[in-house]
Amino acid sequence: MNSMSHLAKIAAELCPLGEDRRRPVRGRFAPSPTGYMHLGNAWSFLVCWLAARKAEGTLVFRIEDIDPDRSKPEFVAGLVEDFSWLGLDWDEGAGKQGAFGPYTQSESTGIYEQVVEALQKDGLVYPCYCTRKELRSLASAPHKGDYGSAYPEICLNLSDVERREFESQGRRGSMRLHCDKDAIRFSDVLHGDCCMSWKDCGGDFPIRRSDGVFAYQLAVVVDDIRQGITQIVRGEDILHCTPRQVYLYELLGCTPPEYIHLPLVIDHEGERLAKRHGHFELRKMREQGISAEAVLGYIAYLGGLQPTCSCIDVHGLLNEFSIDKINTHPLKLEKDVIERLKELSDGC
Ligand code: GLU
Ligand code: ZN
Repeated sequence: MNSMSHLAKIAAELCPLGEDRRRPVRGRFAPSPTGYMHLGNAWSFLVCWLAARKAEGTLVFRIEDIDPDRSKPEFVAGLVEDFSWLGLDWDEGAGKQGAFGPYTQSESTGIYEQVVEALQKDGLVYPCYCTRKELRSLASAPHKGDYGSAYPEICLNLSDVERREFESQGRRGSMRLHCDKDAIRFSDVLHGDCCMSWKDCGGDFPIRRSDGVFAYQLAVVVDDIRQGITQIVRGEDILHCTPRQVYLYELLGCTPPEYIHLPLVIDHEGERLAKRHGHFELRKMREQGISAEAVLGYIAYLGGLQPTCSCIDVHGLLNEFSIDKINTHPLKLEKDVIERLKELSDGC
C-alpha cells in the first residue's frame, strides 16, 4: 500500500477539535429518517441523552439520510417532534446552530467524496464489479464454509485491463475498503474489550455503492470525526459494524469514541422491533393518550434505570442515572404493553 499522505492531509482537516476533543463529552442523536421513532429507538436515545447530560456534555442532532431510497423528508419533522415530546433536548443541528455543520448527511456528500478520493489515492480501496446476484449465489454455494458470508475479495487483485474490461461493458463498480488485518480490537463500556474478526464482520466492505451512494459506515465515521463526537450510544444491533468503523478511525489517524452498545428492546415473542410493530411508534401512543412520562418510566424500568415501573420524566431519570445500572439482557416488552402504558399514564 502507498504512503498515507492523502489521508493524513484530509484527516488533519476533518478533526476540528484535535485530540483535545475528548473532553468534555460530545454525544449525538443520529436517527435515519426511514420511519417514526418506536420504543426501541426511544430507549437508545434516552440513554444517549442521559449519558451526555450526566457528563455535562454537548449533544449533536444529525440526520442520517444518506440512503436516498429509504429516507423520507417527512420523517425528519416527525422525529424531531418525538424527541421533543420525550423531553430529550440537543445543542447543535436539527434547527439549532453549530460550528460543525452540515448536520444532515445528504448535504455533506462533498466531504465524503474527499475522503473516498484520499482512500483511493492511498491505495486502500478497490473497485468491485460483483453484482448482488453473483454475491448471493456465492453465499449459497456449497463451499461457502471457506469464507463464511464475508466478501471473498474476488475483485481485490483485478488487473487494470480487467477493470477496464468491466467498465467498457458498462459495469459500474462499488468501492470496497480493504483490510489486511485478521481482527479489529475496540472497547465498549457495556461489552468490555471486544475483538472481532474482519471476516466475521463481512470482510472488505463498500464505502460507496455502485450507484454512487456513500455507505453508512463511511458517512457515520466521517461525521463523528468532523463533529468531534466522543461518545456513541446505540443499539447492540450495530455492534458488528463497529470494527469497520474503528478501522476507518485508524486509517484517518483519529481516536475512536467511547462506545456504549445497548441491549435491544424486543417484543413479547423475542422479536426485535421492526416496521410491522407500527403500534410501538411513539406518535401512535401519543394519539392514544399515552404520556411521555409513562413511556420513559416503562423503558427505564425494563432497562434497569429505575427500580419500579412508574412515571418519570427525563430530569428525574438524570438524577439517578449511572451507566452501570443498565441491564445486560434485552428489554422484553410484555404482551399487552399498550394497555400497561395506558394504565400508567392514567396514574401519572
Ligand atoms: N443512523 C443509524 C440508524 O438509525 C444509526 C447510526 C449510529 O448510531 O451509528 O440506524
Ligand atoms: Zn467484486
